[in-house]
Amino acid sequence: MSAGSYSYSAVLMGSPILLKLFEHDEALAGRVFRLIRHQENLFTVNRAQSEVMAINHAAGLHPVVVSPAVYPLIKRASEVSKLKDSCFNFAIGPLVKRWKIGFQGDTVPPAGELQALLALTDPHQVILDDDARSVFLQQAGMEIDLGAIAKGYIADVVRDYLQQQQVECALINLGGNVQTLGHPHQQSWGIGLQKPFAGPEELIGVINVTHKSVVTSGVYERYFERDGRRYHHILDPRTGAPLDNELLSVTIISDDSIDGDIWTTLLYGLGVEKSLACLRDTPQIEAIFVTRDREVICSSQRGYRFTLLDHSYRLTG
Ligand code: ADP
Ligand code: MG
Ligand code: MG
Repeated sequence: MSAGSYSYSAVLMGSPILLKLFEHDEALAGRVFRLIRHQENLFTVNRAQSEVMAINHAAGLHPVVVSPAVYPLIKRASEVSKLKDSCFNFAIGPLVKRWKIGFQGDTVPPAGELQALLALTDPHQVILDDDARSVFLQQAGMEIDLGAIAKGYIADVVRDYLQQQQVECALINLGGNVQTLGHPHQQSWGIGLQKPFAGPEELIGVINVTHKSVVTSGVYERYFERDGRRYHHILDPRTGAPLDNELLSVTIISDDSIDGDIWTTLLYGLGVEKSLACLRDTPQIEAIFVTRDREVICSSQRGYRFTLLDHSYRLTG
């Protein structure tokens, strides 16, 4: 794709990971992948053991002290979850585990069961103590899930590491969370905006950036179909079911990928109109929405350039 670039890939966090550099450096790529694996081991809820699982295992019993590497991410997730009208909820774990969307054994839980599980997802019942660096889930059965924020956070950790290593031009893609440094020869990175429910190479358009994060969350990323209905992996903390509105994907362009990861979920919950109003007061966050009726809506084009390639979509905004 880019002249003179070297690509390194791995599968980590259940996702394809791609690192692009402009010098051949297998050893550096190996260190980056080890760094990602180390971070994943702290935050995962898909294995029996991790710092986050230690918190979940102690639900209803006692607070758990976590490491300085883990506490700030939990703190940020907690703050975002408690914002007014936030659809981001890091206490969503019991529902994620029950639906198993994207995993073997996915099911549509009966409505009564969803109600019971919703009672275990109140983010105000996750008690953080900054001095002790501890986290306590007040009720047995509660579980935190950092799936909507961890990849963005880790993308920023990788960017910071590359900068420490004096790497000036690079791109890291953590399964849809892209973070970029510069591009040589004053060029920019072209990040594809994927066509929903099509192959990864089928693009609606291209987003050009440098030194920015581009995060997309889409209903086509992880889902299952049952009885003619599609169930995707972003849950509505008000109903316990997948969020249902006019959106097929939300892309956020921001400096930090953690913000992109958070804001895709927040804006998914708000829908297009409320999101655009909200973004007018948030100049550091830009968004591109793709709707079910093939509209592509850009909040503005500050800090990036979007080029439409598939003209069966209408570009507005
Ligand atoms: P990815 O693109 O890696 O699948 P997203 O950033 O789109 O991740 O977040 C989806 C994941 O976040 C889900 O797989 C689940 O683990 C968790 N999740 C689902 N619904 C919510 C929600 N309303 N708030 C916070 N996390 C959620
Ligand atoms: Mg995603
Ligand atoms: Mg996210």
